[in-house]
Amino acid sequence: MGLKVYINGELYETEDARISVYDHGLLYGDGVFEGIRVYNGKIFRCKEHIDRLFASARAIALEMPMTRDEVAEAMRHTLDANGLTDAYIRLLVTRGIGTLGLDPYECTNPQVIIITDSLALYPPEYYEKGLELVTVPTVRNHPNAVNPRIKSMNYLNNILAKIECLQAGVTEAVMLNKEGYVAECTGDNIFIVKDGKLLTPPAHAGILEGITRGVVMELAREAGIEALEKDMTRFDLYVADECFLTGTAAEIIPVVRIDSRDIGDGKPGPTTLKLLEMFRDRTTNATG
Ligand code: PMP
Repeated sequence: MGLKVYINGELYETEDARISVYDHGLLYGDGVFEGIRVYNGKIFRCKEHIDRLFASARAIALEMPMTRDEVAEAMRHTLDANGLTDAYIRLLVTRGIGTLGLDPYECTNPQVIIITDSLALYPPEYYEKGLELVTVPTVRNHPNAVNPRIKSMNYLNNILAKIECLQAGVTEAVMLNKEGYVAECTGDNIFIVKDGKLLTPPAHAGILEGITRGVVMELAREAGIEALEKDMTRFDLYVADECFLTGTAAEIIPVVRIDSRDIGDGKPGPTTLKLLEMFRDRTTNATG
C-alpha cells in the first residue's frame, strides 16, 4: 500500500501525486520547504517549523495560500490518512505554474505539497563511532545572494559540497563562508564543545537556523552549559574538545574526525552524549 500525498487540499496516491513541468519549483527551484519529525503522533516543534516556512516564503515574496493553522491541520490530516505516528514530513510550497520566463508574478497558484513517510534512520554506528568530516572548496551561499536562512527548494550549493565530500570518501562536508568562517554542513548545523562551553556559528555566518540547533541550545542551558553563537575558523574545529551535528533527521550526531585530524580523543564526547540523551528524552516525552 502506497502512501498518500497531499497537494493543495487533496490526497493522492503517491504515483498520482503530480505537479506541472511548468511549475517554477521545477524550472527554477523557486519555492520553500521544511523537513519535520513526528514522534509518538506529535509533530515536533510544529510552530517553529511553520514559522520558519512562513519566513522563508516571505523572504522570497511568495504569498502563502494557507494560514499557519491550516498548514498544521493539513499535516495532521495527511499523517492520519497514512496511519503514521513516527514519521518524517516533507512540506513544500512551490511558486506554482508560470511561463518559461523567470517572472514569479506570472505564477498564481502555489502548490502546497505534504509528503509523509516512515523514517529511514541513520545507521547506529554514526552515533556510536561518530562521523568524519572534510572541509570542501565550495563556499556556502553568501547571505546577500541567496541567504541560507531561507530554506529554499534550491539546494545546489549543498549538493556541490556533498559531491566534494563523497569524492573525498567522507559522508559529510563542513562548508565555510566566503570569509573562511565555518558555516554548516550540507543538511545539518555544526557545534563544538571547548573548555566546557558549547559554540555554534551565528546566522550571519551563512547558515540555516536549525530547529534542532535551537532545541540543543535550550537543552544545554537547562544542563547548566554555557551555549554561545560564535564565528569559528577551521582552527577552532581542529582544537575542539568535541564536535557534533544537529538536524531534524540526524538529531545529534557526534563528529570524531575533521580533515584527517582526530577531534579530542577521536571518540564521541561526554557533552555530546549527554545532549543526545536529553534530546531523546525530550522527543520520547514530546509535547509538540
Ligand atoms: N542546515 C541545513 C542546510 C539544512 O538543510 C538543515 C535541515 N535539514 C539544517 C541545517 C538543520 O535544520 P533543522 O534542525 O531545522 O532540521
